[in-house]
Amino acid sequence: MIIRIALSLTALGLLLLAGCSRPVQDVYQEQIFAFGTVIDITLYGVEEKRAQQAVQAVDAMYQRQHRDWHAWQRGLLMDLNNAIAAGKSIHTDPSIVKLIQLGQGFERSSGGLFNPAIGNLLRLWGFQQDDPAQGPPPSRERIQRWLDSAPSSLQLQIDGQVVSSNNPAVRLDFGGFAKGYSVGKAVELLQQRGINNLIVNAGGDLCVRGRRGDRPWRIGIRQPDSSGILASIELEGSGCIFTSGNYERYFEYNGRRYHHILDPRSGYPAEKTASVTVLTQDPTLADAAATALFVAGPDNWQTVAARMGIQDVLLIDEHNSAWLTPALAKRIHFEQQPADIEIVQVNP
Ligand code: ADP
Ligand code: MG
Repeated sequence: MIIRIALSLTALGLLLLAGCSRPVQDVYQEQIFAFGTVIDITLYGVEEKRAQQAVQAVDAMYQRQHRDWHAWQRGLLMDLNNAIAAGKSIHTDPSIVKLIQLGQGFERSSGGLFNPAIGNLLRLWGFQQDDPAQGPPPSRERIQRWLDSAPSSLQLQIDGQVVSSNNPAVRLDFGGFAKGYSVGKAVELLQQRGINNLIVNAGGDLCVRGRRGDRPWRIGIRQPDSSGILASIELEGSGCIFTSGNYERYFEYNGRRYHHILDPRSGYPAEKTASVTVLTQDPTLADAAATALFVAGPDNWQTVAARMGIQDVLLIDEHNSAWLTPALAKRIHFEQQPADIEIVQVNP
């Protein structure tokens, strides 16, 4: 769904630049709504009609994905999950097969901290529903029962487009990496149409291509405990920056906050981390790695980053200390000073 009509900033650019001799900036911005998120598309130097058509194609793609990959609304993923729960095999869509294979790769490389078969646990915590979860957290017994059922995406067998599992407790949830995959597909679609200077931004998780005219794109990274900007970074050419935060989805009970990034080892929301930002070329990897490093936490993220092949990381811990790789430290600019800054090498 395109929720705002096209906003060409040509006129604004003219206004801002009146009186100076630089050429008119031509930034075209439009918003799409899918997966419960606003997706901002920014194109530079594209004629309006062509920009509109390109964004329409991206919107159609998003609506299809929303329908097919939704974790708790009727659709292809729901059909697949129901079949697995019933111990049946099912013929599914190639896009779902692709996502399962990617998810299996991330589960392996993260040592199980990223687990796309975590759907039943997310349900237990009330994170597979439109409205925020409420009430007390699930009982220890129910969490223990989930831990005992030990679901893993590696227990899925894929034969062409036919998927089955010998563990009916496997329930797929693509929430930790589908957004990244979609951003990548949106960028591909735009580039196929000859658009090479752009940002696709799904709620702060984004990829850029090219430049904003005569300068790089300037990107803000959110402060975990407020809506302010913690840091900024300039990107140009090709790059993606993804953040997982404890502020994205959560509920509060008896003064405690329970957020949506769950530690598959304990069954509880991952502790000690407030947010993780990852910068890399591949948006699906960036998305999965941000979630995995969030679970790994301040003591263990370096090992997991190395295993997943991530060089640029910013982790903000529960005490508002920043943990940074040297590669990212060189490029990032703090707009607000964290409590402490630790620069740590990622060891391969
Ligand atoms: P956000 O960008 O909204 O912070 P993330 O990319 O961190 O989101 O993904 C969080 C989502 O990933 C959750 O809503 C859930 O669907 C899923 N998820 C939660 N914990 C895990 C986990 N340990 N492994 C894989 N997916 C997870
Ligand atoms: Mg993620």
